[in-house]
Amino acid sequence: METFTYSAHPSRVVFGSGTVSVLADEVRRLGGRRVLLIAGPRHRALAETALGDTSVAHFGGAAMHTPVEVTEQALSAARDDDVDTIVAVGGGSAVGLSKALAARDGYDQIVVPTTYAGSEVTPVLGETREGVKTTRSGPEILPETVVYDVDLTLGLPAELTLVSAVNALAHAVEALYAADANPATSAVAVEAVTRIGAGLPAVRARPADPDGRSDLLVGAWLAGTCLASAGMGLHHKLCHVLGGSFGLPHAHTHTVVLPQVMRYNAAAAPSAMDRVAAALGVDDAPSGVFDLVAAADGPTDLADLGFTEDDVPRAVDLALRQEYPNPATVTREGLTALLADAIVGRRPS
Ligand code: NAD
Repeated sequence: METFTYSAHPSRVVFGSGTVSVLADEVRRLGGRRVLLIAGPRHRALAETALGDTSVAHFGGAAMHTPVEVTEQALSAARDDDVDTIVAVGGGSAVGLSKALAARDGYDQIVVPTTYAGSEVTPVLGETREGVKTTRSGPEILPETVVYDVDLTLGLPAELTLVSAVNALAHAVEALYAADANPATSAVAVEAVTRIGAGLPAVRARPADPDGRSDLLVGAWLAGTCLASAGMGLHHKLCHVLGGSFGLPHAHTHTVVLPQVMRYNAAAAPSAMDRVAAALGVDDAPSGVFDLVAAADGPTDLADLGFTEDDVPRAVDLALRQEYPNPATVTREGLTALLADAIVGRRPS
């Protein structure tokens, strides 16, 4: 008989095309009047128009892995303009900064994700201080409202689309073999893999295909809820080390590492691998994911991302520093071999 404990994380989700136009209403719905907008040049004007006179301040300097120095600058802007609500439009970096501000001053948050990172539905904040990335979690970190506007993703470049979608895929894969997996997270994870598996080829053929883009964004949302509710294993711990301590780009790193970790875990998690393979329509999940990436000319090796054999011992030390549940036992030898394969991009067999 199954036993499990499951916590869902409450957020309001608005999904569709053109939904950015609801931003001012959503601010008022939360009782907000003064917004700090976090957005890069690509989305700033659109968001400011949608926010109207609720927009009183802007910050455009969000950076990957949420460096605390950047958060301090944005915090000054928020305090100087006496804001009550943060609206973040962008990828996981913009969302991470929004969460960092909410964690400090308790602002309400409305986030409009433009990549597939999934951070918008998790109560987790990763921050980098002096080259070390730490995470913390709490209800104040979870954005109150998520506005998914498929239109904002139509122009996401091909490589970014691929790596970000594989980043989402990783949340779903690890949820399927998580020690605390449950029927809800597993069903959602399978649907996420199915949507991502359908969306990637559609968008590769026609980058602005609204249905393919919708599949990817729905997949990203569902995979994000898996990340929020199921404990992640070796893949996420390793990517956390590679991003936080070696400065490797988040989604690219996930894309290279995922098939290697799936092979590492495959024998210990056969049912999860079967479900992933069935959802993707491939015979073998680890090599199927590798082939999906390679066929789209995506990154398959860590060497291209600047990670070398000399970096392996420190990465292994850091990845072994904390214990975490993972289907296969995580050993120094195993991790060293996995990273050696990832450096050269060896196809999992
Ligand atoms: P990102 O936000 O840095 O975006 C990557 C690049 O894509 C940037 O140059 C950005 O300007 C560009 N971009 C974003 N949207 C675009 C669009 N629609 N069109 C064209 N270009 C666009 O990277 P990311 O991969 O989305 O997020 C990574 C960050 O999110 C990392 O810091 C990671 O740790 C964090 N993250 C956190 C969680 C969590 O639950 N805490 C989950 C996933 C990711």
